[in-house]
Amino acid sequence: MAKQKLQSIRGIHDGLPEQVRNWRHIEDVARKVFASYVFSEVRLPILEPTELFVRSVGEKTDIVSKEMYAFEDQGGDYICLRPEGTAGAVRAYLQAGLTRAGAQRWFYMGPMFRRERPQKGRLRQFQQIGAEFFGVSGPVEDVEVLSMAQRFLDELGIEQTRLEINSLGCVECRPAYREALLSFLEKQKEFLCETCHDRMGSNPMRVLDCKMKSCQAALTDAPEMVNHLCQACDTHFSGLKEGLTALHIPFTINPRIVRGLDYYNRTAFEFITDQLGAQGTVLAGGRYDGLVESLGGPATPAIGFAAGMERLEMLLPQAEVSAPDIAVVALGDAVSAYALQQAAKLREAGLSVIHCGGGSAKKQFKMADREGAKFVVTIGEDEMKENKLMLKNLSTGEQIKTVLKAVIEEVRG
Ligand code: ATP
Ligand code: MG
Repeated sequence: MAKQKLQSIRGIHDGLPEQVRNWRHIEDVARKVFASYVFSEVRLPILEPTELFVRSVGEKTDIVSKEMYAFEDQGGDYICLRPEGTAGAVRAYLQAGLTRAGAQRWFYMGPMFRRERPQKGRLRQFQQIGAEFFGVSGPVEDVEVLSMAQRFLDELGIEQTRLEINSLGCVECRPAYREALLSFLEKQKEFLCETCHDRMGSNPMRVLDCKMKSCQAALTDAPEMVNHLCQACDTHFSGLKEGLTALHIPFTINPRIVRGLDYYNRTAFEFITDQLGAQGTVLAGGRYDGLVESLGGPATPAIGFAAGMERLEMLLPQAEVSAPDIAVVALGDAVSAYALQQAAKLREAGLSVIHCGGGSAKKQFKMADREGAKFVVTIGEDEMKENKLMLKNLSTGEQIKTVLKAVIEEVRG
């Protein structure tokens, strides 16, 4: 019987050089942009107590009820692979006792796990780049966080996204809105799907977010939170809109953007693209002023977002390529040791160098070409005797025989 081939788990992909080059680029851009807003990187556990997500994301959500990789370990503890980053960040913030340390600006990047149905842009292990800003409540900080997200996408050259914002109100104004929404939904009930019937009982605002066309059609005249905001939420929302306008960040208001959970309030936002089908949300976030308190800390306002690395990658205008500065071509066994030494010296000078392995000149030049080298250094017996190198610029075709130091200067440009 043929042995079955070992494969990675469905929806869990390998990061091969081609992808990792793109990911590294996205990470580098994130670090640069986030540093300019004085956000600091944190590296948080991938394994967390299951209870953390039950208490933060909520037992009734799809993420916790169906999608978590949760298990009992050998010691009888209930642990899981984190499905998202915010809950762990809040836990770490509380555990480190930072609630009195003033505003904290954090960002993170790393793998998240959800047992969803795998599709393009929807994986079971995926990577998020996220930011959390603790201890600030004003619309100014919302604007700062949104402008940081916009800047991040701009620096990546991702232009096909649009920003949609909404306000989810607060504990003051949401209950009345919820009642208004519920009575509207009762009238439309026959047109809504089964899942929405359930949502009406647990979290009616989630009905607004239903992906079913028939549900969306029934919701055309649904009351909108933005028209039911209390004075404080309305002022906050105005401040947000004014700030975005001042920074020339285009946005539209989408009253259908909701977050399923009670601790989310006021600002909610998504950067959306039409290029990725149903996986159109590239970066999503919002204010969660209630979460720190609900996880046992003092009432602390906060706002954050997370972007999906794999979705960002699909939108990159061009792939990152690997191009060595120099390919070393060694002609003949007699120069073998000398060529190795020259390659080592070029690397010590900070250049990236591949050694084409010796053998026929044709084979070596082919390799230099395939690797995309910018220059070729050819070493034959003449060059060795003169202690020089033959340097060829592959884009101009120019060729000179010169000493190592001059090669380094020329290649550095
Ligand atoms: P979606 O509506 O696409 O399911 P979500 O609301 O579940 O997204 P969040 O939990 O807000 O997403 O996560 C933030 C971002 O992480 C998303 O906008 C997306 O870019 C990315 N993301 C979420 N789930 C996945 C997944 N299963 N595979 C790849 N990326 C994902
Ligand atoms: Mg989802």
